[in-house]
Amino acid sequence: MTALWSSAECRSEHCASCAGERPFEQPGCADGHEPGECPEWACVSCGHAILLGSAQTARPVRLLATV
Ligand SMILES: [Zn+2]
Ligand SMILES: [Zn+2]
Repeated sequence: MTALWSSAECRSEHCASCAGERPFEQPGCADGHEPGECPEWACVSCGHAILLGSAQTARPVRLLATV
């Protein structure tokens, strides 16, 4: 059950450091995320790292939504 995200190894995002659209890839994750689940992406041009929100397990600034 691990092949679902196999196409998510590279994606195009806006890099604030390059001030433009750049390909991003996922560096080696030290947090134990599964491949494709890690929210951390790095610009292949400058290495600028960003967190993308699709994986909401990133840094639990958890709003206690008890509703
Ligand atoms: Zn960049
Ligand atoms: Zn990770």
